[in-house]
Amino acid sequence: MQSSRRLKVASLGSGSKGNATLVSNGEVTVMVDCGFTVKEVLKRLPRINLEPEQIDGILVTHEHQDHISGVGALSRKFSIPVWATRGSLLSGKCGNLPEYNVIEGFSPFSIGSLDITPLSVPHDAREPCQFLFTQDELRLAILTDLGCFTPRIVEQLTPCHGILLECNHDEEMLWNGPYPDRLKQRVAGRMGHMSNRQAIELLQQMDTDALQLVIATHLSEQNNCPKLVGDLLAETLDWPVEQIKIAEQDMGFGWHELVLESNRVFESV
Ligand SMILES: [Zn+2]
Ligand SMILES: [Zn+2]
Repeated sequence: MQSSRRLKVASLGSGSKGNATLVSNGEVTVMVDCGFTVKEVLKRLPRINLEPEQIDGILVTHEHQDHISGVGALSRKFSIPVWATRGSLLSGKCGNLPEYNVIEGFSPFSIGSLDITPLSVPHDAREPCQFLFTQDELRLAILTDLGCFTPRIVEQLTPCHGILLECNHDEEMLWNGPYPDRLKQRVAGRMGHMSNRQAIELLQQMDTDALQLVIATHLSEQNNCPKLVGDLLAETLDWPVEQIKIAEQDMGFGWHELVLESNRVFESV
């Protein structure tokens, strides 16, 4: 008999031009961030067979445009409640919301049967957070937009069955690339974005025994190369390179599901 314990994740797009990630446990479906217009969301949702009315909540990681620009409009159009830290809400970037919930002190909370733990991350926003979703023993982490990882994050990711991990830039490509110096320093700084090297270091420091799904996210189009990221992560984890998924700016990625059956977790597309 198949277990009902499952978690699945999909993306409408990932990168500095817009982000929106969907997480569902089969009963409750949430969107993490919405950096797209309502029109663009409605164009992209059919790719993952989802209707906007099926979205039970929008979770906000932080107030940068690529994450928040479409949150208010989508929430108003379909009366979807929003969850965000006080810092993100105080940015005023959501406008008036029909219903919102404050994430207080990074305390865990639930939306229906979906349990969520906010993760505090170093990033140059007012009160940025990322999210760990748990369903029984299953744990799925979204970890993007952080300049570096902390011992606390490594601890919170143990164990972890699936992770959406920021691999923003290759350090050499960034420093030799076209960005102005100030922007290079911001991206590479401790409150900026994780490089491929930092993502590898995080994987090396966390317990990866239970890890079945790794999706590289928030890749810079100018300062990174998907093939390089796939090769590096596969080598680090000693996985076949096909097992490493890369989130694309335009296409995001389709549903990936973690299912806990007996004591074994597997992933299916
Ligand atoms: Zn971002
Ligand atoms: Zn950001």
